[in-house]
Amino acid sequence: AGTGKFFVGGNWKCNGTKDSISKLVSDLNSAKLEADVDVVVAPPFVYIDQVKGSITDRIEISAQNSWVGKGGAFTGEISVEQLKDLGCKWVILGHSERRHIIGEKDDFIGKKAAYALSEGLGVIACIGELLEEREAGKTFDVCYQQLKAFADAVPSWDNIVIAYEPVWAIGTGKVATPQQAQEVHVAVRDWLKNNVSAEVASKIRIIYGGSVNGGNCAELAKQEDIDGFLVGGASLKGPEFATIVNSAT
Ligand code: PEP
Repeated sequence: AGTGKFFVGGNWKCNGTKDSISKLVSDLNSAKLEADVDVVVAPPFVYIDQVKGSITDRIEISAQNSWVGKGGAFTGEISVEQLKDLGCKWVILGHSERRHIIGEKDDFIGKKAAYALSEGLGVIACIGELLEEREAGKTFDVCYQQLKAFADAVPSWDNIVIAYEPVWAIGTGKVATPQQAQEVHVAVRDWLKNNVSAEVASKIRIIYGGSVNGGNCAELAKQEDIDGFLVGGASLKGPEFATIVNSAT
C-alpha cells in the first residue's frame, strides 16, 4: 500500500434481491473494519435507497453509473442529482463492462466524470486494457489514452480515485500478479506526473481491480503503488469483503 488512505470499493454490479442485499448489509454491519480505510459499496440503483437506509455510516455508497448531465427527458437514465438525493458520495465511471458491453466511449465517460465532480460526487475512474491489447504490448498506451480522456475533461483530480482494472482479470478468476499491477500503477503515476502535476501524481489513490479475493489481497496490498481495491464478485460476500478491506494492515 502507498501513503494515501487505503480505499476499498465493492461493485455489486447487476446482482441481488431485496432479501440477499439485506443479508449482505447485515453481514457488513457486523464485520470488523479497520478504521484507516475508506470503504464504499456500489449497489444496483434500485437498491441504493434500501442500502443507504440500513447500512452503517462507516460505509459510503457509490452508484455504478450516472447520466452525463442534468436530469430531464432521458428515459431509463439516473441523474447525479438523484444519486445525491439518495445519499450517494461516489460514482463508478468507465467500468470495462460499460466500455465494452454497453459501448461507452472515452469522451462520453470524461464528460460524465466532469459533471459528477461538478455536482460534488467523487469519481472512481476505471481504466484497463483488453487481453489482446496486453498481448500486443499496448497496455500502457491504452491506459494513457483512457487517462487522457479523463484529464481532458475534469477540472481537478481532488475527488477522483483511479481504478486500474485489466479487462482480462475482471470476473475471470485470473488476477494480475502483484508485479503486473504494480508496474501499471507506477506507469499511471508517471503519466499523471508528466501530464497533470507532480502533486496529483503523488497524492492520487490508484486501486487495483480484477478477481481480487480474500486469498490474494494481502500480497497485492503490499505493493507500494496499490492504494486499495475495486472488488466485484468477492464483494457479494460480507466476511470476505471485510478481509479485503483489512488487507493493508
Ligand atoms: C469489477 O468489476 O470491478 C471487478 C473487479 O470484478 P471482479 O472482482 O469480479 O473481477
